[in-house]
Amino acid sequence: MSLPMSCPVCGGSVFALGAEVFDDRYGEPNRYQLACCNSCGHVATEPRFHEADLPRLYGTYYPRKKIRAFDVTAQAAEVRSSFASLKRWWNGTNNQGQYTVRSGEIMLDVGCGSGVSLLEAKALGATAFGIEADPNVKPIAAALGLKIHFGSLQDKPFPDQSFDLIVMNQVIEHLPDPDLTLQTLRERLMPNGRMVLVFPNTASLWRRLSGSRWINWHIPYHLHHFDRKSFTRMAKHCGLEVVRSRTITPNVWTLLQLRANRYQPQRGQPSPIWMVANRSESAPVTARKFGPLRGLIRVGALSLFAVFNRIVDLFGMGDSLLVELRRSEQ
Ligand SMILES: [Zn+2]
Repeated sequence: MSLPMSCPVCGGSVFALGAEVFDDRYGEPNRYQLACCNSCGHVATEPRFHEADLPRLYGTYYPRKKIRAFDVTAQAAEVRSSFASLKRWWNGTNNQGQYTVRSGEIMLDVGCGSGVSLLEAKALGATAFGIEADPNVKPIAAALGLKIHFGSLQDKPFPDQSFDLIVMNQVIEHLPDPDLTLQTLRERLMPNGRMVLVFPNTASLWRRLSGSRWINWHIPYHLHHFDRKSFTRMAKHCGLEVVRSRTITPNVWTLLQLRANRYQPQRGQPSPIWMVANRSESAPVTARKFGPLRGLIRVGALSLFAVFNRIVDLFGMGDSLLVELRRSEQ
C-alpha cells in the first residue's frame, strides 16, 4: 500500500506506523495503514475516506444501537443525583463537554447521538441544541422535545443562533476534514464562546502498552488520530487556541482494552467482544445479568482500573483528551 506524500495537519513527511491494520470490531474487510507525521506526530488512517464514502461504510458495518426514550431520560436524570460529579470522576465518564456547561449558557453538541447530553445540559440550566446524522434518533428527539438538526454542519443549521459552548464528544476523529469543521464551528461561537472537544489520545499509556491492538485506533472509522501536539497545531491553523487540556480514561475502556488484548481478531469477521460490549452498553442497567461471583470480579476490576486510571490521568497520559478552545486573538 502506498502512503500519501504529506501530513494532512502540517504538510510534513509521513512514515508507516507498524504493520497493516483492519477493522477489528465490525468486520469491514479492507486493509489500512496508519500514516504518522515526522513533524507533528499526527496519525491518519490511509487510504483516506471522503465524506461521500461514509454513509456506505457506516450503513453496512457500524451497529446501530437501539435507543429508548426512557433510557435517555433515566441516564440524563443522574446528572443531578448526589455525588454525580464525584462518580463521573471515579468512573472516568466526565470526558464529555456538556459537563462543563454553565447555567444560562447556550450549547451546541455536534454529533449528539441519542440526545442524553442535551438533556443533561438542560438539567444543568443551559439551553441545548444538537446536530446528529443518524435518523434513528428522530423519534427520541420528537418524544423528548429535543432541538436536534438531523443532517450535517454543512446544512448551516440554527442559522440565527450563536453559542457560548460548542461540544464534540468523540466525533472529530471520525471526520474526513476535521480542520474544515473547526473553522465552520469557530464562526458559530459567541465572542467569548468556547469549544470543548474530546477525542482519543495517541500519546496515551494504553496505546503504548497495546500497540496496534489499541481499541481507539478503531479502524477504519477513526480517520484522524491526535495527541496534544498535533491537535494544538491544527487548532492554531483554524484560528483557535487550546486554553486547557487534560486526559480522562473511562474505566470501561480499560476493561474492553484488556478483553481486546486477549482476543485474536480476524480480518473481515465481526468480533464477539464488540457485539457483547455494544449490547451491554445499550441495555438498561436492570437488564444486565451477572452471577454474584462474576459481578464481584467486575466491580473489583473496575475499582482497580479506577485507581490506576486516575493516576495515569494525573500525568496526562490517559486514553481520552479533553481540550478547551477559544478563538485566537486576531
Ligand atoms: Zn504533521
